[in-house]
Amino acid sequence: AKRIEGKVALITGAASGIGRAAAIRFAEEGANLVLLDRDRQTLAVVCREAEAFGAKTIAVEADITDEQSLAEVYRKTNSAYGKLDIVFANAGINGTLSPIEHMSKEEWEMTIGVNLTGTFLTVKHAIPLLKENGGSVIVTSSINGNRVFSNIGFSAYSSSKAGESAFTRMAALELADYGIRVNAVCPGAIATHIDQSSKPKPELKEVEIPVEYPEGSHPLEKGPGEPEQVASLVLFLASDESSHITGTSVYIDGAESLL
Ligand code: NAD
Repeated sequence: AKRIEGKVALITGAASGIGRAAAIRFAEEGANLVLLDRDRQTLAVVCREAEAFGAKTIAVEADITDEQSLAEVYRKTNSAYGKLDIVFANAGINGTLSPIEHMSKEEWEMTIGVNLTGTFLTVKHAIPLLKENGGSVIVTSSINGNRVFSNIGFSAYSSSKAGESAFTRMAALELADYGIRVNAVCPGAIATHIDQSSKPKPELKEVEIPVEYPEGSHPLEKGPGEPEQVASLVLFLASDESSHITGTSVYIDGAESLL
């Protein structure tokens, strides 16, 4: 049997990387989808990929920091499918990589705004629909929210990801009575296009500290993980197989965080 047959899942950041891999995996396992991204063109390609597995898809071009368009996305979801079971709040950016001394308030707020506030808004507006039948929310945090990253410049990113894990715990507590589970996945380095969303400042060079292990080495696989590996974990957390798991942050990093 398919693992999430007939479920309706909304995925943010679905046009690329981990979000795209989850869209395809969810489609393979029988879900119908609402795929959201601010990149409309690539999103259309992912829709075709998911539809090849028989999934119904709705593509929505939206920015997760725009509260009104998010509310509208959930209205669309309800009128198309009449319910919502799974939310994968995954969209995120690296933002500007900068020493703290040289990071502007605008750069700080951009990263916190997309990753943390955008996740809050994605979950907030899903609650009315999720309350009806219960459901599963998965947030993409990072190992960098829970440990010191070996490259500096990531203070805003790490703070946003720590916030996402804390938000996950609080949301799990608040929503438990409605049968809504909320968990976070914390990937290590994964081979995606996220570096293209980074703007490293020249000042970073002055203070960069050497990494303690060879670039790209991971204990398990000797390189970054693949988005499909993260999608398998997200599928498990989305499905009823994880029915006793809520409020947790699951590392998926090939033991990178142990180095
Ligand atoms: P990616 O850049 O390949 O995909 C991210 C997608 O999110 C893109 O399609 C982008 O257009 C979309 N997006 C960004 N900001 C948006 C916004 N404001 N509104 C709507 N869509 C927006 O990157 P990815 O690696 O797949 O990242 C997915 C998540 O995984 C992010 O939250 C990221 O922080 C997290 N993560 C990634 C890694 C990694 O090494 N790749 C590690 C840990 C955590």
